[in-house]
Amino acid sequence: MKLSVERLTATPTPFAYEEGTSWWCARMPAERGLPRELPEPFRVEGRAYQNGEDVVLEGCLEGSLELECARCLARYRHRLREPFRLVLEPAGMRVPAEPEASAALVRDGLCLSDEFELGWYRGSEIQLDSVCLEVISLALPVKPLCRDDCAGLCPRCGADRNEAACACVEAAPESPFAVLAALRSESTGGSR
Ligand SMILES: [Zn+2]
Ligand SMILES: [Zn+2]
Repeated sequence: MKLSVERLTATPTPFAYEEGTSWWCARMPAERGLPRELPEPFRVEGRAYQNGEDVVLEGCLEGSLELECARCLARYRHRLREPFRLVLEPAGMRVPAEPEASAALVRDGLCLSDEFELGWYRGSEIQLDSVCLEVISLALPVKPLCRDDCAGLCPRCGADRNEAACACVEAAPESPFAVLAALRSESTGGSR
């Protein structure tokens, strides 16, 4: 999706586009270890406007990826819904210090700084691909979970504790408090 900078005014212009599996495979490096198929295209909706010399982009990216749960190892659909806001300054004659950013400025008419919310643009058109990829990269969880309270696999027998409790529940007490509690129940005649 390309945005014509020349046509932007102080009044926000809406934009919307979708990017599917072929785009994903072409742009997301395989070494990131992410799935190569998208269950649905990523959808980006937003608005763009000029603020003085700056270009402001704000919107939201939605989509999903099949990830592997870090606890139970099941594959699940991880939903992304990420609002974003970027302020791009005209690059002018400046050259980004990083070669990657410098190449992006030539290729996309846009480069992002480390803080993501700030960047530079150059020329009359900006390509929003890299924004989309960056939003996805930042949104991906370090430790994906199929759900917040995933019980995970039993470290002893490997059973999926989301499905059924295994026979390993009588594990040795782990904390000193549990040891104390066990002693107390013995001293009060709890043991047979
Ligand atoms: Zn899980
Ligand atoms: Zn077990």
